[in-house]
Amino acid sequence: MTSTRDHGYARYKLDGCRCYTCGWAVAQYNDAREHAIRRGEWQPYVDATPVREHLLRLRDCSLGTRRVAAIAQVDRKRLFAVLNGRPERGAGPQERVRPALAAAVLRVEPTLDNLGAATPISSVGTHRRLTALVAAGWPQTYLAKRLGTSNGGFGNLLGRSQVIVRTARRVRALYDDLWLSDPREHGVGARSFSRARNHGASHQWAPPGAWDEDTIDDPWAFPDWTGRCGTTGGEYVHFRIGVPVCDACRAARREHRAAVKAPAA
Ligand SMILES: [Zn+2]
Ligand SMILES: [Zn+2]
Repeated sequence: MTSTRDHGYARYKLDGCRCYTCGWAVAQYNDAREHAIRRGEWQPYVDATPVREHLLRLRDCSLGTRRVAAIAQVDRKRLFAVLNGRPERGAGPQERVRPALAAAVLRVEPTLDNLGAATPISSVGTHRRLTALVAAGWPQTYLAKRLGTSNGGFGNLLGRSQVIVRTARRVRALYDDLWLSDPREHGVGARSFSRARNHGASHQWAPPGAWDEDTIDDPWAFPDWTGRCGTTGGEYVHFRIGVPVCDACRAARREHRAAVKAPAA
């Protein structure tokens, strides 16, 4: 399963695409959106165009007017008027709206909590959570059971580039439940525990401690194994704690060497 969304807002938000087109589209768009929200602070009415455009982008993310109205706590009829007008009265799409309505709609962004349960999204956060739990000593059979799937289903999950929102939420809840616990205090035998840890280590799967809850879903985030990963000091800590040097530390070393070699300007 790979994404079929065009590059742009929805692909950036849901598929975690960080290509130039997606990044540029979202940066430009966020500027315009912030501007539209600010403009409303001192006007009785504002242009409805940014609201309409935002509704269309949210629709690309499978967030329809019903759901947006519920999240923004506005009357769905008002969103219809902005999108389609009132054909029964011969009125086209509404041109101006109250700033409060505009701001409420413009602040809605797709998240794991408000997207539809069947919407396909990037599997990045799901993979990181599951592999982190294995690295921490939770056997795959245990995790598969807790997720209501088979071992094969679990392996399948790890091989996918996309998952549906329902699965991502389930994995997030399981991770939140387990990541601070010791598997051996929850019925996992000593042998299964070390087998899981060895499996994680052999795949260089980062443990929960290397991830930050705020960024674990961010495709640009990398695991911090040493507390200094991505800096020139990180490599030394890898050697000290006996963990293979990670990509971020390797890149930092390359950069450092190139800088040392370069003739002084
Ligand atoms: Zn892209
Ligand atoms: Zn590192």
